[in-house]
Amino acid sequence: MKKVRIPKSVDPVRTAGKEISYDGLVPSSGLPRLQEMLFTPSDDAEVTLAFDRDEQGIVFFRGEAKVEVTLACQRCGEPMNMPLTVKFQYAPVNHKVTADDLPGYYDAVEINELGEVDLHAVVEDELILGLPLVAMHAVNECAIDRDAMTFGELPPEAEKKNPFAVLQQLKK
Ligand SMILES: [Zn+2]
Repeated sequence: MKKVRIPKSVDPVRTAGKEISYDGLVPSSGLPRLQEMLFTPSDDAEVTLAFDRDEQGIVFFRGEAKVEVTLACQRCGEPMNMPLTVKFQYAPVNHKVTADDLPGYYDAVEINELGEVDLHAVVEDELILGLPLVAMHAVNECAIDRDAMTFGELPPEAEKKNPFAVLQQLKK
């Protein structure tokens, strides 16, 4: 079944009042900052979202986003695929309710001048935060073989006493 597109932005109060849930897609074109960080563009992200009011009357939404990303390995520079799944829970803030008023289990999200939350931007922020700080293949899958990096494998001219000469050799 083809998934529906998650709306770009919604009024969180009205959406929570109707207890609306979404199970759909955020198109990759709606995630431009994420795409810039990837080796190749991703597919659309699969996203679920549920809006509600909690027992304190706070409007919130929680959700999950999944997408397969391709990053450049920081060791060999070759592409590596990894599944990315993030979970999040937000409450909208405005001039009356600030982030300080919220229980700690909610992240604060700004509403725009139309009173709406930009859902695509929220999903994109979460996916970017979910990226690994350093992307690297597992050693046995990496194009740079760990064994080739031991000193025993260096050419003989690198084995000089001056450590800087060794460093220079490594840089070549
Ligand atoms: Zn690698």
